[in-house]
Amino acid sequence: MSHERQSMSGKSISGTFSAGDLRRMLARLRDVMAGVGAVQGRLDKVVALIAQDLRADVCSCYVMRAGEVLELFATFGLAQKAVHQTRLRVGEGLVGEIAAHARPLALADAWSHPQFVYRPETGEDFFRSLMGVPMIQAGRVIGVLVVQTREERPFNDWEVETLETVAMVIAELMAATQVVKREELFHSEGNATLHVRLVGAILHPGVGIGCAVMHKPHVRIGRLVSDDPVTEQYRLHTALGSLRQEVDALIDGSRGEESEYGDILEVYRMFADDRGWISRISEMISSGLTAEAAVQKVHDDTRTRMLQVNDPILRERLQDLDDLANRLLNILTGGDKRPELPDNAILICRSIGPTELLNYDRRKLKGLVMEEGSPTMHAAVVAKALDIPVLAQVQGALARIDALDVIVLDANAGQIILRPSEEVIDLYTAAIDARTKRRADYAAVRDLPAVTQDGVKISLNINAGFLLDMQGLAETNADGIGLYRTEMPFLAMPTLPDVRAQYALYKQVIDGAKGKPVTFRTLDVGGDKIAVSSGQEEEDNPAMGWRSIRLTLDRPALLRQQLRAMIKAAEGAALRVMFPMIANIAEFDAAKRIFALEMDRHLKGGGLAPKTVKVGTMLEVPSLLWQLDALVERVDFISIGTNDLMQFMFAADRGNTRLANRYDTLSPPVLKMIHTVTQHCEKANVEVSVCGEMAGKPLDALALVALGCRNLSMSATGIGPVRDIIRAATVSDIRSFVLDLMESDDASLRERLRAFARDRGIAAQL
Ligand code: PEP
Ligand code: MG
Repeated sequence: MSHERQSMSGKSISGTFSAGDLRRMLARLRDVMAGVGAVQGRLDKVVALIAQDLRADVCSCYVMRAGEVLELFATFGLAQKAVHQTRLRVGEGLVGEIAAHARPLALADAWSHPQFVYRPETGEDFFRSLMGVPMIQAGRVIGVLVVQTREERPFNDWEVETLETVAMVIAELMAATQVVKREELFHSEGNATLHVRLVGAILHPGVGIGCAVMHKPHVRIGRLVSDDPVTEQYRLHTALGSLRQEVDALIDGSRGEESEYGDILEVYRMFADDRGWISRISEMISSGLTAEAAVQKVHDDTRTRMLQVNDPILRERLQDLDDLANRLLNILTGGDKRPELPDNAILICRSIGPTELLNYDRRKLKGLVMEEGSPTMHAAVVAKALDIPVLAQVQGALARIDALDVIVLDANAGQIILRPSEEVIDLYTAAIDARTKRRADYAAVRDLPAVTQDGVKISLNINAGFLLDMQGLAETNADGIGLYRTEMPFLAMPTLPDVRAQYALYKQVIDGAKGKPVTFRTLDVGGDKIAVSSGQEEEDNPAMGWRSIRLTLDRPALLRQQLRAMIKAAEGAALRVMFPMIANIAEFDAAKRIFALEMDRHLKGGGLAPKTVKVGTMLEVPSLLWQLDALVERVDFISIGTNDLMQFMFAADRGNTRLANRYDTLSPPVLKMIHTVTQHCEKANVEVSVCGEMAGKPLDALALVALGCRNLSMSATGIGPVRDIIRAATVSDIRSFVLDLMESDDASLRERLRAFARDRGIAAQL
């Protein structure tokens, strides 16, 4: 295959450059790096070789140094005196821009780019065009590789891809030859024994004390370049066979004790068979890479592309891809299968896939700390089920924590303490003991009803999305599943499973609930999460884009199939269905019509009717608040989704950690909104519940009850504490306090409500 790299001017950077040329170039690079002599000398040769092969006037290699600074490490074409002198901060200049976003830049006229920074010492006055790519190793940008030409000329995709392949090979070779030592890359803490505090986002609360174990997802690739594509293709296909077997074994294993993981793991089977993925890897092998280097390259490409997508959920699916690619790399390189852990281990990683997490011995695992990660990632779901405290988005975790460092992970306060003093350890040990005792206390009262002191019964339900979550129902003795997020198991799948597969899943959920009510919510996905149509454009604001009910009303076959599966699964049982992101009455009517069509079809086809049928809506788009009169006439129930409702009311992205504490659910606008809804529902005798995160926080739950909510749905861990506070509360007392408070101008009412609750001896631990 020969790629013509035609530029708009008709001239390309190196005339015609084929896959064969690339293969030869990679082989030469490998030989130079593997050669003898000082590292600097070898790098100098490398940049000269690239410039020569790509017929560029300049090739420069910038390497990331301590303090997020990129240093010109070697250059062909720029002034040699600038080497080790020219430094750019990440985000500064074009090189800094490439490193900051981990994505390539290809500019015909670099000087006219707003980020361009002129560095006179480099003598770059003569060079107009610039193409630069990040050098990525183990998922981290370790430098930037740049070529420049005198003439002003554009670059095409093949040229960018060629430079990316070269950059990947150099990055691996640099790591293998330890061009820059790890300690040189990052700031040192100064005094290594000083305790250090790092903060992060809480994915699952709890406290863990142990020693740091670095999760090593990255497999060191020994051989990068091969002259024998046939053998490499064979290796790839054999490894894919083993990968499928491994995934099948995990699925089989999950049928027993951990049946709850089954649905996550099923997705892996689909990935492992994805033809697009496999053929991209094959292509890279044909261009001269070994099977493992090709897997790594395709994975790096996918990663870079996915990181540019603005959709947090899609980005989370990256973990699954990382997980699978690492498994495949492990097979190809004969790496570790089951990592050993010390007795009390706190696992440190950039990010982790669910199967990687399951590979560790959970009895020894006391916590998980990630540099990335977010609440809906699959590993967080697994960690939650295993009740392992998890802190995510801990900046600098990998650079600042060393293996075997003693760590206190305080995922209640969102922090970790590195190298803690004896006093700190004692303090936290006491907290762990207290938590163990509290959990035992919750377990002991799990059968007590959630009834307030003045006899108001509150229905407590759990939110679920994976079969894994079902065990929470039994453990907490909740009243039912108030929100079943049907999209969760399907998010990482290339297409939505057929009716039969969906039916099997919903049936398991209904059976698993053992007669307790389950409220299914129809798909709440964006078009980019499940391939429902081809050629779909990227959206600027996916949370407000073509998602959820908007998508399923535009693709009614999806909704029909889903409803068909639910109706069939609920034969003879209670069926509760609700629609997400309803913004107006017409959308609800349209969705309900489709439901009626499917119900009709089911009955006419001889299907058994569900015992009862209730059709409701999520209230999570503020526009519905001004359509409540019409809405309550049509729905059987309303479930308030405070997560989305908050983000749309305050125009504050719910995934943005910087805004996480800026607006409070316990604030006048939110409480007034809830009150408006409960009043409408009360008048129309329509059931109302709250199923956003708010419902699972004891103080918030108290306010919700005060405002008239009698039905709350939350993650299973919230049930114990919320039951506790409800049993201690007197609704009439709190109601008048909250109604008065609602008229205040304060941004948050939390402290005042907390003080009120404490005064009345309600839940001292609030
Ligand atoms: C909500 O928006 O409050 C909600 C419960 O739905 P989700 O968190 O799935 O968007
Ligand atoms: Mg929502």
